[in-house]
Amino acid sequence: MKINLAPIKFSNKAFLERLIRDLKNVFQVNIEILDLFLDISDSYSAERKQFYSTKILETAIKNTGQTEGKILIITEMDLYVPVLTFVFGEAQLNGKYSVISSCRLHEEFYTGHTNNELFYERLLKETLHELGHNFGLLHCLDWDCVMHSSNSIEEVDIKGLSYCGHCRKEINLL
Ligand SMILES: [Zn+2]
Ligand SMILES: [Zn+2]
Repeated sequence: MKINLAPIKFSNKAFLERLIRDLKNVFQVNIEILDLFLDISDSYSAERKQFYSTKILETAIKNTGQTEGKILIITEMDLYVPVLTFVFGEAQLNGKYSVISSCRLHEEFYTGHTNNELFYERLLKETLHELGHNFGLLHCLDWDCVMHSSNSIEEVDIKGLSYCGHCRKEINLL
């Protein structure tokens, strides 16, 4: 098993390296950076000034058939699905592909103040959350669990930074 992190319009190497270390600790598998060079322009809505996350996943599916392991796309671009104002990410349940956006994880987005530690914590939470869906986890009712749903940044901040015991057991983590 391998997890590929595929940055698309995401250039902060330091955060990626940190993510690799933390994901290795959680999943005990190889984590690699995958250069996808995907053209996601057809996912862009000029009207909403956002990218349609489901279409990004479709583009990735079409262009990465041979790649082994999970593929998590990380982008700075703001994401949406038609029924919602925005999404932090989207994942195939029990699948190979997921995407997260760091756009609304920046504290600057809300308060104008930079907070790198808070940003990274949010990034790790959303990464673990979408990968959890890839591994077959549904939303969890435990607020200490990273699989709790979060539709606002407040909810991202309230929920825990790791899987609860029940979710860990579901996906066979030690
Ligand atoms: Zn979810
Ligand atoms: Zn849980």
